[in-house]
Amino acid sequence: LHYQPIISLETWRMSGFEALIRWEHPEQGIISPVTFIPLAQETGLIIPIGLWVLREACRQARVWQDEFPSDPPLSISVNLSGKQFLQADLIERIEDILIETGLQASSLEMEITESAIIENIDSATLILRQLKTLGIRVSLDDFGTGYSSLSYLHRFPIDTIKIDRSFVSRMNSPKNSEIVRTIVTLAGDLGLRVIAEGVETREQIIQLTGLNCDLVQGYLLSKPIDGEAMRDLIEEIYERGLGAHEG
Ligand code: C2E
Ligand code: MG
Ligand code: MG
Repeated sequence: LHYQPIISLETWRMSGFEALIRWEHPEQGIISPVTFIPLAQETGLIIPIGLWVLREACRQARVWQDEFPSDPPLSISVNLSGKQFLQADLIERIEDILIETGLQASSLEMEITESAIIENIDSATLILRQLKTLGIRVSLDDFGTGYSSLSYLHRFPIDTIKIDRSFVSRMNSPKNSEIVRTIVTLAGDLGLRVIAEGVETREQIIQLTGLNCDLVQGYLLSKPIDGEAMRDLIEEIYERGLGAHEG
């Protein structure tokens, strides 16, 4: 499991991490989730893999919360695939994992794409409500790339919108920066947090700060790295702060 930090533009501190799975193949090296997650969905292996990711991510987050206390505590975001909505005991298993790892529900955020919701509308509605009842936050991943019906923002208990990288990476065009501005404004009006994904340049950070975007995630701040490397990075930033960082 690799981790990528999510940074607050207000405090310049890490608010938490997204857990991103990697497959270390003995011959082919590291295989991207873009390649094997669709296969895992087809074969049903996504169910055990998803539970493994969740347990490992919650365990790791708990360790970092202890070592690097903050208020609110560091959070962990875990991707949930549409197929997992169909797992009958998903909510019970999530509850078990929280108890087992000692992580507070409020420190966990589940990331779901619009397409995953649409493809499983009934089960998604139920699962999202149950997550909310447990106190787990929900974010809408890759926002703007799916069928983007704005009615979901009202219909589902969503806490966070993640603006897709495709909009962020083209923010130098006036049209795209207007789209980003509109999403940030919309999120603000609805009382949702907003994260810009795929931030790669300082220019983007300056623009996003100007738009009052809450949080950023991207290669400029850190690529996804393994737990050990992330621990070192947290330690470095925890002591010196990101502001003290050159750049
Ligand atoms: P995602 O959830 O939207 O994750 C963000 C992806 O963008 C990650 O790719 C991340 O490495 C990449 N990224 C982050 N910042 C930048 C940047 O500045 N520039 C560029 N070019 N890319 C950036 P990754 O790790 O390859 O994951 C791809 C997708 O695979 C994820 O998209 C997610 O949908 C899925 N995935 C990853 N881990 C899991 C998992 O544990 N479970 C499930 N169900 N899906 C997962
Ligand atoms: Mg995600
Ligand atoms: Mg995304």
